[in-house]
Amino acid sequence: MNKPLAYKEVMIDTKFLAKRLESETSGEVMTDVASRGRYATDASIYQTMPVAVFVPKTAEDIVAAIQIAADLGVPVLPRGGGTSQCGQTTGPALVIDNTKYFRNILDINLEQGYVDVQPGIVLDHLNAALKKHQVWYPVDVSTAAQATIGGMAGNNSCGSRSIAYGNMVHNVLGVDAWLADGQATSFGLMKNAAGKALELGQFVQSLAHQHQAEIEAKWPKVMRRVAGYNLDIFNNQSERPYTQDGQVNLAHLLIGSEGSLAYYKQLRLALSPLPKHKTLGVVNFTSFYEAMDSAQHIVKLMPSAVELVDRTMIDLSRSNPAFKSVIETALIDVAGKTPEAILLVEFSGEELAPLEKKVKDLDSLMADLGHPGCVVEMINAESQKNLWEVRKAGLNIMMSLKGDGKPVSFIEDCAVPLESLAEYTQDLTEVFSKYGSRGTWYAHASVGTLHVRPILDMRRGGAQKMRAIAEEAAALVKRYKGAFSGEHGDGICRGEWIQWQFGPKLTEALGEIKHAFDPNNLFNPGKIINPPKMDDESLFRFPQTYRVIPLKTSLDWSSWDVQNDPVTEKTTAPGTGGDPSGGFAKAVEMCNNNGHCRKFDAGTMCPSYRVTRDEKHLTRGRANTLRLALSNQLGKDAFLSEDVKEAFDLCVSCKGCKRECPTGVDMAKMKIEYLSHFKKSHGWTLRDRLIAHLPRYSHHIAAIPGLAFMLNLRNKIPGLAFLGEKLTQISAKRSLPTWRRDTAWRSMIGSTEEALFASAKPVVLWADTFNGCFETENIKAAVNVLEASGYTVHIPQKKQGHYCCGRTYLASGMVDEARASAQELLNTFSRYTDKNIPIIGLEPSCILTLRDEFLVMGFGDSAKTLAKGSQTFEEFLVSEANAGRFAPELKACEQQILLHGHCHQKSFDAVKPIITLLKMIPQAQPQLIESSCCGMAGSFGYESEHHQVSLQMAELQLLPAIRQAPDAIVLADGSSCRHQIKDGADREALHVARILEMHLK
Ligand SMILES: Cc1cc2nc3c(=O)[nH]c(=O)nc-3n(C[C@H](O)[C@H](O)[C@H](O)COP(=O)(O)OP(=O)(O)OC[C@H]3O[C@@H](n4cnc5c(N)ncnc54)[C@H](O)[C@@H]3O)c2cc1C
Ligand code: SF4
Ligand code: SF4
Repeated sequence: MNKPLAYKEVMIDTKFLAKRLESETSGEVMTDVASRGRYATDASIYQTMPVAVFVPKTAEDIVAAIQIAADLGVPVLPRGGGTSQCGQTTGPALVIDNTKYFRNILDINLEQGYVDVQPGIVLDHLNAALKKHQVWYPVDVSTAAQATIGGMAGNNSCGSRSIAYGNMVHNVLGVDAWLADGQATSFGLMKNAAGKALELGQFVQSLAHQHQAEIEAKWPKVMRRVAGYNLDIFNNQSERPYTQDGQVNLAHLLIGSEGSLAYYKQLRLALSPLPKHKTLGVVNFTSFYEAMDSAQHIVKLMPSAVELVDRTMIDLSRSNPAFKSVIETALIDVAGKTPEAILLVEFSGEELAPLEKKVKDLDSLMADLGHPGCVVEMINAESQKNLWEVRKAGLNIMMSLKGDGKPVSFIEDCAVPLESLAEYTQDLTEVFSKYGSRGTWYAHASVGTLHVRPILDMRRGGAQKMRAIAEEAAALVKRYKGAFSGEHGDGICRGEWIQWQFGPKLTEALGEIKHAFDPNNLFNPGKIINPPKMDDESLFRFPQTYRVIPLKTSLDWSSWDVQNDPVTEKTTAPGTGGDPSGGFAKAVEMCNNNGHCRKFDAGTMCPSYRVTRDEKHLTRGRANTLRLALSNQLGKDAFLSEDVKEAFDLCVSCKGCKRECPTGVDMAKMKIEYLSHFKKSHGWTLRDRLIAHLPRYSHHIAAIPGLAFMLNLRNKIPGLAFLGEKLTQISAKRSLPTWRRDTAWRSMIGSTEEALFASAKPVVLWADTFNGCFETENIKAAVNVLEASGYTVHIPQKKQGHYCCGRTYLASGMVDEARASAQELLNTFSRYTDKNIPIIGLEPSCILTLRDEFLVMGFGDSAKTLAKGSQTFEEFLVSEANAGRFAPELKACEQQILLHGHCHQKSFDAVKPIITLLKMIPQAQPQLIESSCCGMAGSFGYESEHHQVSLQMAELQLLPAIRQAPDAIVLADGSSCRHQIKDGADREALHVARILEMHLK
């Protein structure tokens, strides 16, 4: 056998590699340090710079790349979503990203029950396409929205319902793959094998026979064993056979091989019928031990899932406003005592009645086990779905812990037989406390794989504790005859435990398999065979030598600048975390690379990625670029370099990530911080200034007769727009908002301040720059609606101007000007908030600035008071309606109302009030468009270089949905959203205030 390449010894002529890839393929080649840096990490603690990154467009590109790499001796690392937790996708290799182009469904055969797919397809996308056929691919990993089938096969992934469906290996029927020399080979049933596949199959079979006794002695007998290669396919050791009829399928050799044996070209997957009905019984336990001990009995009822949520997770969910009401539907609070653990026991099948009975059986079983009346029956599908969401969010809730200590994944999927689960978890809890840490337990009780992550600070002695805990955990796994690697694969953190698990002889046999498939050790070297040490610091993302550059920030990031206690999880006071960038770097480091921002579901995050599918234009890509720049890993002065600028270029500051990123990475705020530094050093353009100072000069335009008319000619005479673009880089293809003389302030709408203070129903309507200058009718509509219900409405203004939140300054990186503008507003508005008079606004991005950016501009408590007293128009009216103070008389609405939520409304969960309000109109049936950002995003869509990508964002869902409903009223509260809808679909969208006004009796 050849000696494999040592993990870190890869000497490559990158330029020559890139040149060949560029000339011999049609794919995208990246060799710059920032691009490689974005592919240097996955959801693990590790980081290694790849040699280069390749994004192939065709299958031919991939074969060519493999062959070029083979010629030059460059290792190859195939990559999906990069969501692995053990470092599988990090390595000094040519990383090939399948997710952009290599992601198609090739064939669906319902009769024979399979689907053929390319490896880059995401599980959720596949299942969305299968749904109409009433079938699904049931390996339902928690990362379904971003994990690819190739990556799932690479890791032998396992879903929550593996007790019913098995792991990936149980659900793959065949794999067409390229070997390390580029040779295409089909792997399927051994009896049909031919050529190279047969040759390899026979070789591995002979190894299996040779080591049969050793396999029987050493191989864990649990279903959740994913370590090493599947040498046991010839003599199954798993609780669940690999095939139903006992045949040998050579494709199974490749499942779990982590890209180290062959490169998947396409996979044949077994389809399962989509269960028509599901029921859920939630078992409440007064002790964790009892919960663990009960799992072995519960599985006898043949559930499709048994998932654990422990006390810490229950408490965390209960303290989170988004989850509180949902988790409480699952709890039986006996005399106010929260259960120590709950088990979510799901039954699924074709008929509802037998499944309902199963929940009753569960109740009886628990009574027999000495726990009567501890089951919450959940038959309603919506309630079940909501609870599963909370369970799925479990890890994310934990990961949002601020400070350098983080829950680290390295023993989080050890699998033990169910009868030992209670003892195992108890013993491991003692190990954690011995090392000054604590574990929060959750997940797959049905198969003895409980997730648990002790909190470790990898920058301060975490590596030593990690090894010590791993060694003690391993001893427990051995004692209870379990598997050390039971779900997330081996990668770097479990590679060295393969030998521990299987012993030297089998490890050598695994090495022989590797050699037979990949004699020159080119596919993902260092994974499974000859792995590095799990605690090799040179492979860490945050080694002890990790340092951040000092930075005087424009915004206040001190709430991230903290450290935490690994046991209590309490954090120190803001500003005490020792971050030389005042907490900015720590906020960036909150990104743990889990890849959730790659999702395409109903939420907002991340519109730029949804259009380009480039890692650079993804929240994660931006966070990684920033982290590397702030820690001097992209070269000198990298923070202000083109690399960071490019990464931010398409970020539309939609705040989607602020809400939807599990760890709350707030890239919109980071962009403000970054721009404030970049623009200070590189200067502001004419366009920046035109946009930033708009709130000031707009009043002069309205005041000078004839000026508004003259400026509006730009929208009528194409030559002027063209000239304007040359001068300002504002796209000639866009119409600009129409200037007018009757701005909200010049129209003298509303009541005086004296009347306001004297009123029983006072409200301050803040006329923002956009509605106030360009859409006075929205302000008038809001006033009419409020006054019709007896409110006294006051619109604050100052001499020749209005109070502005500073949004346009923030968007241009002029934080000092924004702060001055905000301070002025704050000073004036505190007169109202001091008297508890509500402040309401129509423009979501402006009013929500008072609740968001104002809090990080150093204003202290006065900003908090203002934030509490500020609401969107619809939030205010809904709260008033709930308090019985708002019940307008409205005419019925005959037309369909299509609603597009502004992304900042979505980010602040402020879309629901619009729907609630609309439902007050008799017969109204508002329908929410499942859209991400409209793409206009303030000035973004007006910028000539962004015009096209802006429209592409709108074309993803928003514009097609509007075109499909030609007779509907379109509602959009954001002025730039309305503009995009006008430009893209030629439809007038209305603010909710206008719609209410239209329906006033
Ligand atoms: C929050 C969180 C929750 C998770 N929950 C689960 C869970 O419930 N169950 C579970 O099993 N895992 C889970 N994981 C781990 C991970 O998401 C899964 O293993 C997932 O299937 C990986 O998919 P991916 O597309 O990101 O693969 P990647 O991480 O990109 O790749 C995984 C492996 O597959 C190889 N590979 C990718 N494409 C190919 C190809 N074309 N040919 C050959 N090899 C290839 C790679 O080289 C790598 O070794 C979780 C991870 C996180 C961060
Ligand atoms: S930005 Fe958030 S969602 Fe994206 S990878 Fe990082 S932590 Fe995950
Ligand atoms: S603010 Fe929006 S565009 Fe920017 S990274 Fe977050 S989700 Fe993506």
